[in-house]
Amino acid sequence: MHALELAGMIWGIELNMEPPPGEPRNMGLMISPFIKSVVTIPVIAEGRIEPQEGDKAIAEGKADFIGMGRGLLADPRLPEKAVTGRLERIRPCIGCGRCTDNQLMKGIGVMCSVNPAVGHEASKYQIYRAQKVKRVAVIGGGPAGMEAARVASLRGHRVTLYEKEEKLGGQLNQAVVPPHKSNLAAYLEYLKTQLPIQRVDVRTGVKANIDMIKKLKPDAVVIATGVSMSKPDIPGADKPFVLSARSVLDGKETAVNVAIIGGGLVGCETAEFLQKQGKQVTVIEMLDDIAGKMVYAQKTILEARLKAAGVTILTGTKCKEISDAGVTVKTKSGEVLHIEAGTVVIAVGDRPNNALERELKGIVHELHMVGDCVQPEGIAEAVAAGYHAALSL
Ligand SMILES: Cc1cc2nc3c(=O)[nH]c(=O)nc-3n(C[C@H](O)[C@H](O)[C@H](O)COP(=O)(O)OP(=O)(O)OC[C@H]3O[C@@H](n4cnc5c(N)ncnc54)[C@H](O)[C@@H]3O)c2cc1C
Ligand code: SF4
Repeated sequence: MHALELAGMIWGIELNMEPPPGEPRNMGLMISPFIKSVVTIPVIAEGRIEPQEGDKAIAEGKADFIGMGRGLLADPRLPEKAVTGRLERIRPCIGCGRCTDNQLMKGIGVMCSVNPAVGHEASKYQIYRAQKVKRVAVIGGGPAGMEAARVASLRGHRVTLYEKEEKLGGQLNQAVVPPHKSNLAAYLEYLKTQLPIQRVDVRTGVKANIDMIKKLKPDAVVIATGVSMSKPDIPGADKPFVLSARSVLDGKETAVNVAIIGGGLVGCETAEFLQKQGKQVTVIEMLDDIAGKMVYAQKTILEARLKAAGVTILTGTKCKEISDAGVTVKTKSGEVLHIEAGTVVIAVGDRPNNALERELKGIVHELHMVGDCVQPEGIAEAVAAGYHAALSL
């Protein structure tokens, strides 16, 4: 044996090959000082170790080498950027596990949620300089819009990004709030930081509309306007104590007893967020499974945490009515139950915010739609769509 490699992972959970998002960073460094004190061969520490932390650990004699896997998928130029001190340009891995899930569970090869070029490095996925410089308007400052603006600007286009809110980020601003989601904060910060570096003209607090675009006459428009919440077709859904999951994550107060309608990723993470605040939470999901679209290993961890925290989960159950006393639901077997709730949180029904596309069709010569405004999916899909739209400009 020539060296020892210490990979940080969670034992006891099938197919979880790496520390998932909620687990502490720098896992290998927790044990490497002890291992180093009892062996004479080199020790390689791993487990989402940041370059600065790795550097410090080597200087302090806690490890001989730092091993990286996912960090290099997210940004293959990480070592070069770290060595030249350009840390703010390193695109961080969000720990989502899509890369390993794709390979191990689906057998469809490597990918990366934040780096659409992974696996296609030698192909047209490369960022080449544009032959003709265009004036590009990007509408929406979520991950899809920010990635489109970043890549379009890198290609030499003159890019202005319009965001109707005062801050950039779109749904990422709520996605970072639940427990175990802090990894996303570093990625959000990365995206925001790249815009001034790439000289994107960012206009926040500006809601783009047809008149504005007609006046600006850009050569190309990228629409990245995300989703709008629509009230589900349930009697009582317009009552004042019915809130959206996003407004709750933005800080809206809830009663102690909360019923969440929708047990997808957003519903489950909002449940964990509220339960941590001491609320009594019931999740009502029409399907037979919760968080069905999540990466398998992370879904099992989230389910286990919700169970341990005492969140009540009703699957195969449909919400029939919202009343002042709570919600009435019908189970798969036909049983009708009443769940007491002072607040009802809606975590279903986001629909693509695509009104601008209909208005701008025929007015703008080159029009692209990217991200959730086409089809609500996730970060990987939004970022990839923004990247490809920018490559095609
Ligand atoms: C709580 C929560 C947790 C999530 N967790 C995950 C996760 O773990 N993994 C994952 O893959 N996905 C997750 N998602 C989903 C993910 O955040 C979205 O898929 C992604 O943000 C979509 O990006 P987007 O840029 O297309 O849209 P958005 O992020 O919705 O951004 C659209 C932006 O456009 C702006 N806008 C709209 N209209 C206009 C206009 N006329 N003019 C100017 N600006 C406008 C909006 O204000 C918004 O900032 C989560 C979502 C939520 C709510
Ligand atoms: S897919 Fe997710 S976990 Fe894998 S390298 Fe990319 S960001 Fe990291």
